[in-house]
Amino acid sequence: MYRYPLLMSRRLMQIASQALCLVYPEVCQACCISLATPEDGFLCEGCQRGVQPVLPPFCSRCGRPSESQGGPLEWICMDCSRRPYAFQSARAAVHASPLMLGLIHQFKYQGALWMTPFFKQLMECRWEHDHEVMACEGILPVPLHPLRKRERGYNQAAILARMVSDGHRYQWLDGVLKRIAPNPSQTMLSRSMRFKNMARAFEVQQPERILGKKLLLIDDVLTSGATADACAQACLQAGATSVIVRTLVCVAKQRSSS
Ligand SMILES: [Zn+2]
Ligand SMILES: [Zn+2]
Repeated sequence: MYRYPLLMSRRLMQIASQALCLVYPEVCQACCISLATPEDGFLCEGCQRGVQPVLPPFCSRCGRPSESQGGPLEWICMDCSRRPYAFQSARAAVHASPLMLGLIHQFKYQGALWMTPFFKQLMECRWEHDHEVMACEGILPVPLHPLRKRERGYNQAAILARMVSDGHRYQWLDGVLKRIAPNPSQTMLSRSMRFKNMARAFEVQQPERILGKKLLLIDDVLTSGATADACAQACLQAGATSVIVRTLVCVAKQRSSS
């Protein structure tokens, strides 16, 4: 007489499990064909192999990969020669392939936080021997304007910064740098206009926390570098010793508003 409730509960569990699989199917979210687990960030091995690290030659200041192969390993790109950034260096973990840009778009605008473990792997592999990163004392994300953060519910750069700081001794400095101007999209602006548009968009609210410190600034995408440059300028003016920038990808052409 007790079998009926037991069968019912098993059936309910099956239904619940099937419903969960519909919501969180263990299939690669890029190709939708191969299997991929939450630990893989729901990206199969094949898709993960298509993500290429940024290797030399790249600009030793902004980290943008050289378009010509076989050139010198140490060089400075035209943009950095014309107008040096306030940050000491920028580096991207991987190339901005359509796959990566698509994943970042989902991560940033569609709440696809399930790919966090995959991004963590990419960043850890790329910077585990980076001496500039190891020398940093404090870590902070590029902040979102409070209105934007309220709309989105999270700051994707802060999630990435948390992953980079995980297991390290960096001082967590999220909140020290505030975005005080909700800048409109920069997509249609020229390079020099992007820098003008971004200047004075950030403010350091607790300068004593960054005084005399080497800082690691994290963002998802480096485009013109204007956002990271404005953050670095604000931190340096408030007394930080140096700022380096690390991002998941950098794009050569002006495609997004970062
Ligand atoms: Zn796949
Ligand atoms: Zn450069």
